[in-house]
Amino acid sequence: MNYDYSALSHLDCSRCGTQLDAGRLQGTCECGAPLLARYDLGRAAELAGPDEFSSRPPCLWRYHELLPVTRPENVVSLGEGMTPLIPMPRLGREIGLPGLLMKDEGVLPTATFKARGAAVGVSRAAELGAAGVAMPTNGNAGAAWAAFCARAGLPLLVAMPADAPAITRSECVAAGAETYVVDGLIGDAGRMLAPVVRERAGWLDVSTLREPYRLEGKKTIGLEIAEQLGWRVPDVILCPSGGGVGLIGIWKALQELAKLGWIESKVPRLVAVQAAGCAPIVAAFERDEPTTSAWPDARTAAFGLTVPAPLGGFLVLEAVRATGGCAIAVTDAELLVAQALTARLEGAWICPEGAACIAAASQLHESGWLGAGDEVVVLNTGAGLKYPETVTADLPVLPLDSPIPAPDPAVVS
Ligand SMILES: *Cc1c(COP(=O)(O)O)cnc(C)c1O
Repeated sequence: MNYDYSALSHLDCSRCGTQLDAGRLQGTCECGAPLLARYDLGRAAELAGPDEFSSRPPCLWRYHELLPVTRPENVVSLGEGMTPLIPMPRLGREIGLPGLLMKDEGVLPTATFKARGAAVGVSRAAELGAAGVAMPTNGNAGAAWAAFCARAGLPLLVAMPADAPAITRSECVAAGAETYVVDGLIGDAGRMLAPVVRERAGWLDVSTLREPYRLEGKKTIGLEIAEQLGWRVPDVILCPSGGGVGLIGIWKALQELAKLGWIESKVPRLVAVQAAGCAPIVAAFERDEPTTSAWPDARTAAFGLTVPAPLGGFLVLEAVRATGGCAIAVTDAELLVAQALTARLEGAWICPEGAACIAAASQLHESGWLGAGDEVVVLNTGAGLKYPETVTADLPVLPLDSPIPAPDPAVVS
């Protein structure tokens, strides 16, 4: 293949190395493992470089040579990408990490980083002629795919657990997706969809890592962090991990950038952050195992992390180990405290999944794994606005003309 817009060359199996044609719709490898998009990096470097990227519009498509969509007219975009990388000095001082930075994905369309995977996944599925796409979701992915599918005119079938954040159900319905709510977890929803997808001609299963291009969208987080730091990498990146696409994507970006010679050979230590109520990656990391085992009775307020059996768990473990990183779980109580602290000290109402990273960073500083001199990037994967139930605001309604009471010294500080 030889395109001017994308340097996409082929697909590689992430486990057995089998090569597959990237020019047609593909799911997973026959061995069951996820497929990875590969690029002709020499060709990419001929077509563009750091200077070109910086002069392009501020969205993730500025990296189109390293993305799989082969014709610009097939890009389905809502302006996603180039989210701010914000210094967090007050919060950083509080938790002993003055060099703390937060990449805020809450400003993306549909208010989570799922928009990146959806933009690229939907664009490529439509470019390759899919008749429709189907996915189980913990809510945010369905909401994002619903928005981009609506814009692409591509039919979407989603199934989500009844406990998924209610707003995501409304988002799917608003965008016209065929939406089902199931009495179970994301894996149960996936099992219910599988036979339907097989019956519908030309439909594609776009479950997490069951098609290769959602990962390419998430990869742009890593490209942006490098660009925003002046083509340099931080010491550590913490990423909340459920299916693991975010963390695997960042790792893939760093590898491609290093091969291109656009960043130094140093890699940041990657940290997979999970919730104590569903931590299969942390359990495998601690037991030194190469892959995850299914987590029983998964439950956490960080709903996007409720993935008891991630297909790409072995890839997250590889990324964490290869970069000298680690995997760590925090409790719901800890992440909710971190969420409140971030809002009070920095004005950022972040999602519970992002807050898990703040709690984890604080604990890793206490244990000495992170030092005060480390440049640490945490990924806030979504807006707190999507989880209104995480903050209680039971305030009395004052009768008109009644005096405003004196401030409660326990609350005002
Ligand atoms: C899906 C999701 C995650 C987990 O992302 P993975 O890429 O599946 O690991 C984290 N935070 C939020 C808000 C999510 O929606």
